[in-house]
Amino acid sequence: MKVIVGLGSCGIAAGGNKVLQAVEDEVRKRNLDVEVKKAGCIGMCYLEPLVEVVDDEGKSTMYVKVTPDVVKDIFENHLEKGIVVNENALSDEDRAYIEGQLRIALRNCGKIDPECIDEYIEAGGYKALEKALKEMTPEEVIEEIKISGLRGRGGAGFPTWFKWNATRTAPGTPKYVVCNADEGDPGAFMDRSVLEGDPHSVLEGMAIAAYAIGAEAGYIYVRAEYPLAIKRLEIAIAQAREKGFLGKNIMGMNFSFDINIKAGAGAFVCGEETALIASLEGERGMPRLKPPFPAQKGYMGKPTNINNVETFANVPWIIQNSGKAFASVGTEKSKGTKVFALAGKVKRGGLVEVPMGVPLREVIFKIGGGIKGDRKIKAVQLGGPSGGCIPESLLDTPVDYESIVKTGAIMGSGGMIVMDETTCMVDMARFFLDFTQKESCGKCTHCRIGTKRMLEILERICRGEGKEEDLEVLEELAMNVKEGSLCGLGQTAPNPVLTTLKYFRHEYEAHIKDKK
Ligand code: SF4
Repeated sequence: MKVIVGLGSCGIAAGGNKVLQAVEDEVRKRNLDVEVKKAGCIGMCYLEPLVEVVDDEGKSTMYVKVTPDVVKDIFENHLEKGIVVNENALSDEDRAYIEGQLRIALRNCGKIDPECIDEYIEAGGYKALEKALKEMTPEEVIEEIKISGLRGRGGAGFPTWFKWNATRTAPGTPKYVVCNADEGDPGAFMDRSVLEGDPHSVLEGMAIAAYAIGAEAGYIYVRAEYPLAIKRLEIAIAQAREKGFLGKNIMGMNFSFDINIKAGAGAFVCGEETALIASLEGERGMPRLKPPFPAQKGYMGKPTNINNVETFANVPWIIQNSGKAFASVGTEKSKGTKVFALAGKVKRGGLVEVPMGVPLREVIFKIGGGIKGDRKIKAVQLGGPSGGCIPESLLDTPVDYESIVKTGAIMGSGGMIVMDETTCMVDMARFFLDFTQKESCGKCTHCRIGTKRMLEILERICRGEGKEEDLEVLEELAMNVKEGSLCGLGQTAPNPVLTTLKYFRHEYEAHIKDKK
């Protein structure tokens, strides 16, 4: 018998550590032969703390919203007498949350103990690295990634194989692999959950990338606000070194690769790859002009490949199951799955992984269960502060790079914030612009001053002091900031304003007209 307690940040915040303590106490008190395990977040953040009981035949029962008192009930009834405690057992309705998903990047999250490499290996971990090293040339690895159609999951959606190949063929050594885990969008927690729940999949993906491009050193740039992710990464790296999956002559082959962690100080702009590199080098995290691209001249001026957490987590699966298998999921141009952090006014908030091409409506209503309090949905914000608002009328838009861009929003890294009929869209645009304005590094005039002027106008409109000409000025400023900014932060900062002006202009006009 096994009892697994969900201990991602969401589980811990909901009281998971007290639940774990109660489970351990019950095992001791009752002198039971029960294995107590920890797991990361399975994605059902809205039901935390979660406890899974797996019997000797492998039958699993998931318990939700568990407290220490419920633990007592579970032990008294389920573990001692074999009777399921129905009040806290996962309902069929909530089961639909997980069953409506296709989990590739999240395949192990919530299922294995992230602090135990043996569980990762038992789940097939490091087999893809072995296959790559022993059966494939670096060119064949890149070709497999090309066949898969994998595109960068950090937001831009650039073909992964192309970046790998550009780094491989760029003159200069040493070469580097960098994992961008500087997740900073408000409402986004995809990377954190993967790192907390399945850190080895990221390490394995990085090692495969390193073999493909010819790198011997890698860095994970992770925000310091993710202490649990950092702790689990440190444990995972130490275990991988001990087992010979990182370090010199991996698996006895002529390939050496090691990874170090760099904790970022929490600047949103460091998610931009050139700013990230600057920060990694010990400089102030400010974007640099491109070209040269990092693949040509990256960390320490050497060819560097940067991918985000989710991208790397997909890589072992692709090598193990084939690029063709990955490409069989999704749409013509957007292959595979995408992980979203579903948040806001939705009934079931948490981590969701769906095939590309699934309509937004399905994610929000079928998986997310619809809107809290059965209110009407007004819009969904995709891509965080760099993204845009998609109105209810466009909810049948498929989730893929091309279709989302047509609405004026962007896929982004996976933040999905649902808003109901009570949300003021002007206030929402003000919130996101306030965020990007504060996070602007100040290098370019348009981003530094333009966003400030835009924010002043939005604040004025929200206070009921807007003027008729404000909307025109706002649009003009937005276009100037987009066109005159050096990096993605400035180029996309006006998106929430532009999309709300496009789809919810009447709300701006009402604020100005009614002076409230
Ligand atoms: Fe800095 Fe903004 Fe310019 Fe980017 S666009 S470099 S964040 S000032």
